Amino acid sequence: MNIIIFGPPGGGKGTQSDKIASKYQLFKISTGDLLRNEIKKETLLGKKIEGSVNSGILVSDNIINDLIEKVVSDKKYKNKIIFDGYPRNVQQAKNLNSLLKKYEQKIDLVISLKVSLDLIIKRITGRLVCSKCGNTFNEFFNLPPPNLTCCKDGTLKRRSDDNVETAKKRYETYENSTRPLLEYYSKSDLLKNIDGENKFEEIAAKIADSINLIQG
Ligand code: ADP
Repeated sequence: MNIIIFGPPGGGKGTQSDKIASKYQLFKISTGDLLRNEIKKETLLGKKIEGSVNSGILVSDNIINDLIEKVVSDKKYKNKIIFDGYPRNVQQAKNLNSLLKKYEQKIDLVISLKVSLDLIIKRITGRLVCSKCGNTFNEFFNLPPPNLTCCKDGTLKRRSDDNVETAKKRYETYENSTRPLLEYYSKSDLLKNIDGENKFEEIAAKIADSINLIQG
């Protein structure tokens, strides 16, 4: 089973896909995480993309396609992927289709989370991520432990693109490039719209219902 989860920045894709990945033994592939990792390791690619990521615009499709082909061609991941934050535009979706075909796979479900801009700004500006284990907290909704510590040696940090200005740019990028994907996927009957403003557990339960349906 391969799943795509998408929605606006701060829409809860990352948190929900972590949950789905562990519940259904899938691998979560977040292009945002892959890109941030390159930046952190100060690779050549990291230096090239840092400006785009920090200002909230999309990294070039060629770079993303190369990253994704490495994943889709790897037998370990075959039919066990949840894509978080990818594809981000229609071109990436078309490329994903041909890659999946090349490696004899397909998409089984596309989950779209719907969230208003007001809530997104709070989710983004309040977000704190553990530098060690990746656990996510929020100053408004899911308070972090005292002294901003999480697991052993972990410190809670803000992502460098989690400020109001970049959040608005990321939302604009989503509206212009990513939202048209909804129409693209609705044609294929794979799309499931879910209200992303409910409580975490309620959203997770709705997603699980959709997955159970396709599993039969
Ligand atoms: P969010 O969805 O909360 O903005 P992500 O971690 O998914 O966070 O993405 C962070 C940034 O990484 C994006 O603003 C963009 O610059 C870059 N990025 C992530 N995924 C893609 C993608 N599939 N195509 C192009 N750029 C991407």
